[in-house]
Amino acid sequence: MKKILVIEDNQANLELLHEILTAEGYHVLQSQNAEDGIEAARREAPDLILMDIQLPRMSGVEALRVLKADEKTSKIKVVAITAFAMKGDRERFLREGFDGYIAKPFRYKEIIGTIKAFSQQQDRDAFSEKPRNQWRSV
Ligand code: MN
Repeated sequence: MKKILVIEDNQANLELLHEILTAEGYHVLQSQNAEDGIEAARREAPDLILMDIQLPRMSGVEALRVLKADEKTSKIKVVAITAFAMKGDRERFLREGFDGYIAKPFRYKEIIGTIKAFSQQQDRDAFSEKPRNQWRSV
């Protein structure tokens, strides 16, 4: 997994995530609102999206629905990044259809740990999707 799209309207958070992820070797794309983020997702086909919830006009939850309804973007893993860090929030966001959840303020280890877990899962999925019956015709 190489390409990560960050959709976040807070400039400081955007810069922080960019710095952390770039240092880990990821190619980072950035959008500051949901509409641009959806466009970037369709165009760039990122491996993972980090999605803020509170965005101007369209929320991160609404943007997630748009992404999951479009076959071009429906397979992309989307992790919510949010300051709604109260009991039950993780479950609520997973129920909304997010693939993961990172609470603000960001903790370096949590961000990297979450992203590496997705990365490894994706590598395993890619391996297991390879055809297994290629020798069976003999
Ligand atoms: Mn925000």
